[in-house]
Amino acid sequence: MQTGSDKASSGSNAAAASAPNKTASRHKYSASGFDVTPLGKERVEELAAKLTPEAFRVTQTAGTEAAFCGNLVDNKTDGTYCCVVCGLPLFASNAKFHSGTGWPSFFKPFDDAHLRAKVDSTHGMVRDEINCARCNAHLGHVFDDGPKPTGLRFCLNSAALVFFATVATMPPEGSPVKTQTAYFAGGCFWGVEHAFSIAPGVVDAASGYMNGSTEGPTYAEVCAHKSGHAEAVRVVFDPSVISFRQLLEGFFQMHDPTQFNRQGPDEGDQYRSAVFTSDDAQATAARAYVAELTAKNAFPARIVTLIEPARKFWKAEEYHQDYVERTGRACHLGQPWWLVGATAR
Ligand SMILES: [Zn+2]
Repeated sequence: MQTGSDKASSGSNAAAASAPNKTASRHKYSASGFDVTPLGKERVEELAAKLTPEAFRVTQTAGTEAAFCGNLVDNKTDGTYCCVVCGLPLFASNAKFHSGTGWPSFFKPFDDAHLRAKVDSTHGMVRDEINCARCNAHLGHVFDDGPKPTGLRFCLNSAALVFFATVATMPPEGSPVKTQTAYFAGGCFWGVEHAFSIAPGVVDAASGYMNGSTEGPTYAEVCAHKSGHAEAVRVVFDPSVISFRQLLEGFFQMHDPTQFNRQGPDEGDQYRSAVFTSDDAQATAARAYVAELTAKNAFPARIVTLIEPARKFWKAEEYHQDYVERTGRACHLGQPWWLVGATAR
């Protein structure tokens, strides 16, 4: 593995670049795969204009509906409660409980990243106001007198929510991002994972082992060359923000594809350069891009990157995940995204 002080450069600036979506750098995703990028003022106003007067009053002016009057207080149907303004899922029926307060109550959110909380000291008491993370709609408050396992009580206004009994009836804005998955091996996975994780449009990047001959390999087995796996990174991305082609461009910037079975000081076939393709379209795109780089002599030596169908991705041990971010250790890899026209998020 690379040491923190080693910043030997690799890759080349000669690879072609095209700009991802200009708003790409602002995109944020939740762990459950939703786009939670804050909406602009104009878009919120546009959405709010379609609300009923009561929903407008509650969500846009931090109003509170009268107790026992909301239409969702006694709703016991299974389903999902979404933001009435932007459609983001906020609570699931399995976290709803009877609080007796007269407002719909939940003990945990659908996803922590879908809510934003701030201290609200109006009405003579300190309580946390909860807002939608995407459109900033006022939703209600959270208190610390809820049931187990969280001990929290999310107290909602029915008017701030819209309920969907089945996923099929939910609008597109209430659905997760339609992601695609790509796999890259470019030496030590710590740095490769970090470089992809900060790319615009990347929902998740994880370190793991791929295309070896054994099941469930461990780091020790991979390092001892007992399994034939490559250290690889699984990249889940939002193709409406960044394309597979742009991921390829970043990948060929961030590592040196002319080094055979090594990357910088790391030697061994687990450090081989490879694109493990998810489908024929990725395979075609990867081969075409390598041919393009070769034709214009983008690198001083032959590109040795393997392009082969992805087999099972075995996620690496937890201490390898988010390694660079957790430890703050520098890595030999550059940050290629500004070169392809986008700022890291
Ligand atoms: Zn919202």
